[in-house]
Amino acid sequence: MKIQIVSCCLEEGNLSFPLGALSILAAIHTHPILSEVTCELKSYTLSDDPILASEQVAETQATHVGLSIYLWNRTWFDQFSKHLKELQKDVVLFCGGTEVTANPLSFDLDLYSFLTLGEGEETTCEALCQLLENTALQGKGIVTKESPITYAYPENLDTLASVFLSGAAEIFVKPGSSVLWEMTRGCPFNCAFCFESKGIRSVRHYAYERIEEELDYLVSHGIEDVFILDPTFNMDKKRTVKMLSLLVRKAQSIHFTFELRAELLDEELADLFAQLNCALQIGLQSSSVEVLQTINRSFNPKLFEQKIDLLNKRGIVFGLDLIIGLPHDSYALFCESLNYAVHCKPSNIDIFALSLLPGTQLADDASKFSIRHLTQAPYTVLTTPSYTEQDVAKALMLKEACDLFYTKGQACMWIHSLCEATELEASSIFAYFSAYMNYLKNKKGIDPQENDIYELQEWFVRDLLKKLNKEKYLSALLSFMELHQGISFLHETGEGPVIHIDYELDELALLDTLNIQKFVLKHPHRHPQTLGIFEDEDGSISFVEQKS
Ligand code: SF4
Repeated sequence: MKIQIVSCCLEEGNLSFPLGALSILAAIHTHPILSEVTCELKSYTLSDDPILASEQVAETQATHVGLSIYLWNRTWFDQFSKHLKELQKDVVLFCGGTEVTANPLSFDLDLYSFLTLGEGEETTCEALCQLLENTALQGKGIVTKESPITYAYPENLDTLASVFLSGAAEIFVKPGSSVLWEMTRGCPFNCAFCFESKGIRSVRHYAYERIEEELDYLVSHGIEDVFILDPTFNMDKKRTVKMLSLLVRKAQSIHFTFELRAELLDEELADLFAQLNCALQIGLQSSSVEVLQTINRSFNPKLFEQKIDLLNKRGIVFGLDLIIGLPHDSYALFCESLNYAVHCKPSNIDIFALSLLPGTQLADDASKFSIRHLTQAPYTVLTTPSYTEQDVAKALMLKEACDLFYTKGQACMWIHSLCEATELEASSIFAYFSAYMNYLKNKKGIDPQENDIYELQEWFVRDLLKKLNKEKYLSALLSFMELHQGISFLHETGEGPVIHIDYELDELALLDTLNIQKFVLKHPHRHPQTLGIFEDEDGSISFVEQKS
């Protein structure tokens, strides 16, 4: 037996750490029987040709090939598997992963010898041992042509080999690299669109001692960026405090990303997050209580804002997620959600069209809600009774505008002044920006995605204020934008930019809270100046006047 595990990540970069495949590799490498067998990992990304990849795997002469299949790489692996089987008809193909678990009936069991459903570390080893011993494939979570659909989830995560401590992830663990780090499996909530919606997986944590050992490994290997896999990191307050205290004490050199529920934040947790180099990602999904009810989420807008305030007061970076096309949602409600999200001042807003993922509650209920969606991956929503095809297209245009203007353009600190000056909500600004992007593309031959975003923002704001006859706010607004764009540029590149503003810095800082219409009335005189922005050794920012 010679085993080849194959992964296919989305793209090169910080999400190209194939944790699922590495977990299987670590399980095989540390298994009492299988550790004697040769088992290697070949990792690809979607930009690699699946046909070429299958030829490379065939050249390894592996007798058993295991695939780690997710929603995004399903088509890639469909092509890979078919071609590999043509090249090597005796190869034993097997696969696991979220797409396999969610949609087992869509896999051809003439092509695959077995599937592992659920979490595959134990079941993959069990099946491979049965193949070694020439006995029938069987067991909970092992699915063949003959067996029924069953799922397996290890009860105690600490019995599973660590991808880091076993050495399985060694080639991915280099100074400056990014990794996914799993702390918990399962989630106590059951949002209907999520794989956790049916509550099949109980919540299981890794022991504190193992986490500490893995953290020491990550720090000593110079890892710079860690995405923590714990669907609701702040679910259990006591454990969250303990974990954060550990990270604060030992891992100041690492940037962490956490996913959490805003409602479960408090002062103590916010103080701990503030001591870390980190970003938080928070699922808002919609600001409509009625829409959220349909997917089993309760929502109190006032409470949510109070919790978000804890983050903004401490300067903690966070992002919000929104979904297009949930049951009972509409384009008008989506605009309200977008306005609400911008009002919370996140650094990024990540917007997704709803995917009706097989295996989720919402996919089961799609016909009950009369939701039409793609029947193949990525199962995206097409229409709902309250969302026409045109409305979905309009919402996706707002998403594109928001991605560029707000998130890439780091507009969170000044967009409120643009809203005040134009007397428009953020969603209307994005609609105007979307139209402006089309104008640039179609009439000027400029690709907005390729252009400098700060320059694009300035062109757009000049054009919009002129159109709306609001040019009296232009000088204050452009100065306020230039100040924040300069600071963002410094943070992004480490290079100190030179900015030109028409007001004193102290005056401009008033725009954080003062309405721009009142500001312009109170500050009729301009004080043009040119300033260089620098970052001091302690991380603080200073402004130095530039003489002409
Ligand atoms: S969306 Fe997040 S909170 Fe909701 S069930 Fe899934 S993992 Fe849990």
